[in-house]
Amino acid sequence: MRIAVVADVHGNGAAFQAVIAAFEPVDEVWCLGDLVGYGPAPDECIDLLQQMAHRCVAGNHDWAAIGRLPLEDFNPAAAAAARWTAGRLSESHRRFLEGLPETAEIGDFTLAHGSPRHPIWEYILTPGAAAASFPYFFTTYGLVGHTHVPALFVEPGGPALAPPEYDSTTALVPSRLILNPGSVGQPRDGFPEARYMFLDTKRLTFEYRHVPYDIERTQAEMAAVGLPPILISRLSHGW
Ligand code: ZN
Repeated sequence: MRIAVVADVHGNGAAFQAVIAAFEPVDEVWCLGDLVGYGPAPDECIDLLQQMAHRCVAGNHDWAAIGRLPLEDFNPAAAAAARWTAGRLSESHRRFLEGLPETAEIGDFTLAHGSPRHPIWEYILTPGAAAASFPYFFTTYGLVGHTHVPALFVEPGGPALAPPEYDSTTALVPSRLILNPGSVGQPRDGFPEARYMFLDTKRLTFEYRHVPYDIERTQAEMAAVGLPPILISRLSHGW
């Protein structure tokens, strides 16, 4: 199967549209959570995902928007955005978010938002954090989001792998890996373009991709609905 893996869309409709337009034809879209929160177009992003064959797991911002996590656990700007998102969601979109599982196993892949160990909240930013999560899933490959930073971690004892390069096809080695495609709607690795991953589960290859999008459109939409300025300005910088 040919799969587009997306994470942390965060209600950024312009970024999600650009990523979808950049897909070559895929069989399914796998979404690693945080479809909403921060951005101005939560309903549009859920609609866009629902129009495609997809699998999706829940993220912390998805749960915040449906009242399943206390907003005191979020920083003030994120909590304000979650409150705005909660008031904005249609009833059917709220039910969609309520129905998202915490993890999903598809063939040789396990999908989680944060980590296989603590799917909703844990960040995998270091090889040590990744090592702690390998015992908590049973497929060869784990796919996570949440950090908004593209990454690849090898199970301890596996081969040393060079960090994957953008737009170049890399073989999925048979050792166990945790991969993070980076964020569609709010990249935090210093480059403001939208990120996603193309995965070929038959050829066992993957490719990190980045796509320019109309950042100013999203920023104008955010300003128009009064979302916090810090969330608006950071999109220009990708942090
Ligand atoms: Zn996120």
